[in-house]
This record gives sequence, structure tokens and C-alpha cells, in this order.
Amino acid sequence: MIAYPLGDSLYLNITNRCPNHCSFCIRQFSDGIDGYNLWLEKEPTTKEIIEAIGDPTKYKEVVFCGFGEPLMRLQVVLDVARHIKKNYPGVPIRINTNGLGNLINGEDITPYFRGLIDTVSISLNAENAKKYQEICNSDYGEDAFYSMLEFARKCKNHVPRVVLTVVDVPGVDVEKCRKIAEELGVEFRVRHFEGGDGE
Ligand code: SF4
Repeated sequence: MIAYPLGDSLYLNITNRCPNHCSFCIRQFSDGIDGYNLWLEKEPTTKEIIEAIGDPTKYKEVVFCGFGEPLMRLQVVLDVARHIKKNYPGVPIRINTNGLGNLINGEDITPYFRGLIDTVSISLNAENAKKYQEICNSDYGEDAFYSMLEFARKCKNHVPRVVLTVVDVPGVDVEKCRKIAEELGVEFRVRHFEGGDGE
């Protein structure tokens, strides 16, 4: 399934690849969400994604999310977002990400979001690098935590709304996480350990 509605939003599942291996990742427990199978036989092309979206004006927003990290396919995200903004300018676009896009792509990618992406929702996941690595098992090791925070900081310069999220898995200090978000000047949201929001 490439495009699937959840609530009032249309979610886009464009890759199953991810450099993290989170203990709570729904990919470890399920083949998908709400009956949608999100394992992709092959990664969809930009054209296939645009066809799967169709007319998105009936949705509150379009969300790059899926069963994997969308910024593994940065150019596809940007091309699809450009298509939506050109043809359906009233439809907001969100990226749900692990915040490792700069490490993955080897450059600061946040300026590319300007004018295309309305919200970036970033998984903070833990209050420090050591705990982050215990929970997320990133291929980048503890560097991932620091790069994710830097990514959030940089997104603020180019994206109207930046949100840090944590999943309330045991052992995470939610209040310390909230403080990190406050210090960065971004929104904060606690997600429950069910994957019900599509990630
Ligand atoms: S970052 Fe997201 S997709 Fe990747 S392993 Fe963690 S929960 Fe799963």
C-alpha cells in the first residue's frame, strides 16, 4: 500500500528502509496499520506515488510516513511535495521522520523544505544519546541523537511547524524530553506505544 487514509489524513508509504531499528517500531510487530499491508514489494516511483495520491483535497493533510524513513528518498519526497503544492496548494504536507535526514543524505537538507513542507514531526525518543541508542539501535550510533537535535533546530528556519515526539515506552523521561523541546522552541507531543498514528 503506497497511499492510505487514516483519520482525516492521507499517509504516504514510500520506503521500508530505515537506519534505525527501534525497539517499539511497529514493523517488528505487524505487517501494517488498520488492515493496510505496508511492506512494499518494491519502492514506488514518483509517478506511482502521484497516481496513488490522486486528488488529495478531501484530506486535512498529506503525510510522508510509512513503514520506513521517508528521507531515505529525499528527492522523491521533494518531487511529490512540489507536485502537490503546484496542483493542490491548499493541502498541507507533513513529514514524519526520525530526524536523521542530514546524516542519511550527507548534507543539510532542511533548506529544501522551504515552501514545500508545512510540518516536520521528528522522533526525539529519549532524553539523551545513550538512551536513544539503546532504544533506537541506530546504524549511526550515538551521533544519531545529536544530528536529530541539530536537524530539528535547522528545520525551524525553513518549516512553519516543527514537532518533537516521544513514545511513552518504559524508561523514557518524558519531562526531560519536554524540556529539550522547550529549549529548542518547538512543539512537543507524546505518542502512545501503539503505532496508531501511522508510524
Ligand atoms: S525510526 Fe521509525 S521506521 Fe525507523 S525503526 Fe524507528 S520507528 Fe521504525
